[in-house]
Amino acid sequence: MSMVKLVNVKKSFGSLEVLKGIDFEVASGEVVCIIGPSGSGKSTMLRCLNRLERITEGEIYIEDELMEKRKNGKDLEKIDPEKLQNLCCDLGMVFQNFNLFPHLSVLDNITIAPRIVRKADSAETQKRALELLDMVGLADKRDEYPVRLSGGQQQRVAIARALAMNPKIMLFDEPTSALDPELVGEVLSTMQELANDGMTMLIVTHEIGFAREVADRVIFMDEGVICEQGTPQEVILNPQEERTQSFLNKIL
Ligand code: ADP
Ligand code: MG
Repeated sequence: MSMVKLVNVKKSFGSLEVLKGIDFEVASGEVVCIIGPSGSGKSTMLRCLNRLERITEGEIYIEDELMEKRKNGKDLEKIDPEKLQNLCCDLGMVFQNFNLFPHLSVLDNITIAPRIVRKADSAETQKRALELLDMVGLADKRDEYPVRLSGGQQQRVAIARALAMNPKIMLFDEPTSALDPELVGEVLSTMQELANDGMTMLIVTHEIGFAREVADRVIFMDEGVICEQGTPQEVILNPQEERTQSFLNKIL
């Protein structure tokens, strides 16, 4: 079964075509890293998956269920709103800039979405939140406010917050790019743990060492298309496309 499938996905902002026909699938438990130059459409692709943006054309499936089918910026299929909400809840997202709620404690940041969106029982939600905080190594920070945490700690709270909705797929958009270098490792190890636990993950990252070690597959995107994909061994150590080679030469 595929957890995520994109078929000929296109996205334009006005006359600017940012995604030019993207096709790919992510299998259950697979860890896929997406690399590529700035402006190539990586964030837009994740945002389309998460419905922060609507696609102009193409099809998106989550767990083989149609979430979206569009052409010329219009829906070709009407999806039942309740089903749509469930499909959206299957996707957890972690952003570059953490995006925690500044006025909420760490614990409330983690429990707010399950309480409001899932209407989950609050004792149960709290118990799960504490387990997740423990998993990311921040059990002692439950009553702190985000401003009192380091960037690495904030990002680990953001990961716990996304996991609190019990997503089936985790999307990460350059989760370590805003961190001081000495804080990158703690976030990457949390992500590695998640991968080891079998989470399906789609990660936009410039951490090539992490991609080499953790990814099952690496996708190189350039100018709105998938230019090359394969195992880390293939794409990172032995890239076939000139554009991939020149990108890697710049960042390695
Ligand atoms: P990447 O994440 O690979 O750096 P993005 O997906 O952020 O690339 O951006 C791809 C292109 O789309 C860029 O040219 C960017 O300026 C443009 N873009 C992204 N979001 C918007 C938007 N909301 N409105 C107009 N243009 C956008
Ligand atoms: Mg981006």
